[in-house]
Amino acid sequence: KPLVEFRNVSLAYDETGNAIEDITLNIRRGEFIAFVGPSGCGKSTFMKLCTGLRQPTSGGIVVNGKEVTGPLSITGMAFQNSNLLPWRSVLKNVMLPLEIVEPHRSRLRKHYQEYEDKARRLLAIVGLEGYEHSAPYELSGGMQQRASICRALIHEPELLMLDEPFAALDAFTREELWCMLRDLWQEQQFTVVLVTHDLREAAFLADTIYVMSKRPGRVLEARSVDIPRPRA
Ligand code: ADP
Ligand code: ADP
Repeated sequence: KPLVEFRNVSLAYDETGNAIEDITLNIRRGEFIAFVGPSGCGKSTFMKLCTGLRQPTSGGIVVNGKEVTGPLSITGMAFQNSNLLPWRSVLKNVMLPLEIVEPHRSRLRKHYQEYEDKARRLLAIVGLEGYEHSAPYELSGGMQQRASICRALIHEPELLMLDEPFAALDAFTREELWCMLRDLWQEQQFTVVLVTHDLREAAFLADTIYVMSKRPGRVLEARSVDIPRPRA
C-alpha cells in the first residue's frame, strides 16, 4: 500500500488556471521522489497538497489509507533557508518540534534526556558532533542546512518534505549534503519528497523523478532512476 496516493488531483488558486493539473501518482513507503521543473510549474503547490496545507479543487489525496482533509502531522519539512532560531543553540533548534508537539511540560521534562539523546544522534549522523551548543550563526550555510534537516527528522516523520534545501549552497557543499542526505535516508528509512530545479540533484538522489512542464501543473514525464542503490 503506497504512503501517498494522488488521484486526478487538480488545484486552482483562482480563475487564472490550474497550478496543479490532473496529477495521478503513488509514493511508496521508503521511496525517494524528486519533483523537478522551472519556477512557477507547481512544485510548492505539490508540497502543500502532500502536507495537507491545501486541499485539491478536484480529485483526491490519500495518505496512509486516509483521505487528506487537513494538515498532516506525519511530515517533516526543510526549506532553502534553514530558518534556525538565532537565539537557540543547534541542539535546542533540533529539539524544537518535540517541544512544540509535547503539550505537557511535565512529560517534556520527563523525556527531555531521551529527546536530547535523539537530537545528538541525528546531529552526529550529519557530521555536527561537537556543534550541539554552538549558535546557528557560528555555523556555515551547509552546516545550518544539516541542522535544519535534523530538526525536520526529530519527530520521526514518515514523510520528509524538502523544498530546494540545497539551492543556496555552493556546488561543493551541495554535493557533500547530497551524500549526507542519502546516508541519512538509507539509515533511517523514511520517505522523501524533494522539490528542486536541479536535475543533477534529482538524478543523484531520487528513485523516481517527476519532471514538470513549463506550463503550470503538468507532469511532463515520470522516470524511475534505475541505478540500484543498496538500502541499509
Ligand atoms: P513553483 O514552486 O514551481 O515555483 P508554485 O506552486 O509556487 O510553483 O506556483 C504554481 C502556479 O500557481 C504559478 O502559476 C503561481 O503563480 C501560482 N500560485 C502559487 N501560489 C499561489 C497563490 N497563493 N495564489 C494564486 N496563485 C498562486
Ligand atoms: P498559502 O495561502 O497556501 O499559505 P501563500 O499565499 O502564502 O500560500 O503563498 C505561498 C507562495 O506562493 C509564496 O511564496 C507567495 O509569494 C506565492 N504566491 C502567492 N500568491 C501568488 C500569486 N498570485 N501568484 C504567484 N505566486 C504567488
